[in-house]
Amino acid sequence: MIKTNRQNIAIIGSGMAGLGAAYRFGCESVVPVIYDKNPYLGGHTASWTDSYGFTFDEGPHISFTKDERIQELFADSVDSEYISAKAIMNNYWQGHWIKHPVQCNLYGLPQDLIESVIRDFKEVIAKNDNEEISNYSDWLVATYGKTFAETFPMEYGARYHTTTADNMSTDWLGPRLYRPSLEEVVRGAQTPNTEDVHYITDFRYPLNKGFVSYLSKFIKDIDCRLNSRVEKIDVNHRMLGFSNGDVKTYDQLVSSMPLPELISIIDGVPEDVIKASRMLAASMCLLVNIGINREDISDAHVSYFYDRDFVFTRLSFPHMLSPNNAPPGCGSIQAELYFSDKYKPLEKKSEEYIQPVIDDLMRCGLMREGDHIITTEARLIRHANIIYDLDRAAALAVVQGYLDDIDIQCCGRYGEWGYHWTDESFKSGENAAQKVLDAM
Ligand SMILES: Cc1cc2nc3c(=O)[nH]c(=O)nc-3n(C[C@H](O)[C@H](O)[C@H](O)COP(=O)(O)OP(=O)(O)OC[C@H]3O[C@@H](n4cnc5c(N)ncnc54)[C@H](O)[C@@H]3O)c2cc1C
Repeated sequence: MIKTNRQNIAIIGSGMAGLGAAYRFGCESVVPVIYDKNPYLGGHTASWTDSYGFTFDEGPHISFTKDERIQELFADSVDSEYISAKAIMNNYWQGHWIKHPVQCNLYGLPQDLIESVIRDFKEVIAKNDNEEISNYSDWLVATYGKTFAETFPMEYGARYHTTTADNMSTDWLGPRLYRPSLEEVVRGAQTPNTEDVHYITDFRYPLNKGFVSYLSKFIKDIDCRLNSRVEKIDVNHRMLGFSNGDVKTYDQLVSSMPLPELISIIDGVPEDVIKASRMLAASMCLLVNIGINREDISDAHVSYFYDRDFVFTRLSFPHMLSPNNAPPGCGSIQAELYFSDKYKPLEKKSEEYIQPVIDDLMRCGLMREGDHIITTEARLIRHANIIYDLDRAAALAVVQGYLDDIDIQCCGRYGEWGYHWTDESFKSGENAAQKVLDAM
């Protein structure tokens, strides 16, 4: 069916947010034009299958949304061909494999550490709750006590967020860090048989072709121009300039591109907004993907690493998400290494991290002598996680205020500069589209 447009609507980005916006417009028979700089659709939800038959996503992607509408939309996209599984996560600290989350699963750790953690935790509970919390570090100490906070989440956080807990706010926490009762901490120190309490309990993952398959429904009937990098925006004349020299007009603009980059391509941005946009920080993630001739690598879907001398912060095992992510009898490992321009710049070429990753996989026992490495790849994600440093909130308010004034609807993880999961990015795109529709 040919749909008619009331207005010329442009969307920058074909990731979850851009497609969420396009989906909402489509529900009202409006067809926007989507522009994406990449030669492929999907942004961070893209997946790649190599010539050996290994499929890797752009970072470990599982859908754990509790939103039934989104669950149904995603399921419909893959004709209900998805795998539904209980999420298994574990932790590695100084030679110990620990069930997730560590705070409820201290069993097997050194006795003096356990005693110190429990003593601190009792003290924290005995205190009243009115202590002033001015950063993530305060929150961790007030929640778990000093020993646990400093040994586990502060160490992991510095490796994942690339900055220290005392330089971070707490407005991103949500359900991410579980606060146990004293009984749970004590029980977890006495037995390995504990309840599963992580906020991600179950997940769904497409059976075939990786996470990107969840986009199938949303890319039907869209007008998407790939290889179209927007590099100039003239808001007065409502014009987009592209890197190939093309110029297109728009009546309404929805953008899911990263805010600092967006600000840098708009004509005539005030100095204070430019300055604020430069304070917004995101981590980069270097993915090292490895395929080997063995599938019994790990029981977990995801493993968190706390030790500073390990090059990676997190591991996942794509063949555990779907058997079709690796050739029969083979297994795959995806290592995540975090950097940021603001706090921890990348020091070497991406490929130079492959061997250190393999060395550390051998050191922790996940890879072993005799494993045959079939494939390796290093892939750098320029924008991974938004860093909730203490500069973020004020800088973001300045940038968002300006973008509202010039009538650009921003959405998604990098357009709203938040810790959005795929479902939230999609809904953020829908909301941006709704604002445009309301104004039409
Ligand atoms: C390592 C990692 C693991 C994750 N794991 C999960 C998970 O398990 N589950 C989950 O639900 N979520 C997960 N997420 C979050 C998820 O990836 C995001 O919520 C979602 O993909 C963001 O979609 P988006 O559309 O907002 O941004 P993007 O996917 O980045 O889309 C933005 C698009 O804009 C395009 N663009 C940028 N600049 C320009 C320009 N100048 N011109 C034209 N186009 C441009 C880009 O090419 C891109 O396609 C993870 C994220 C990361 C980084």
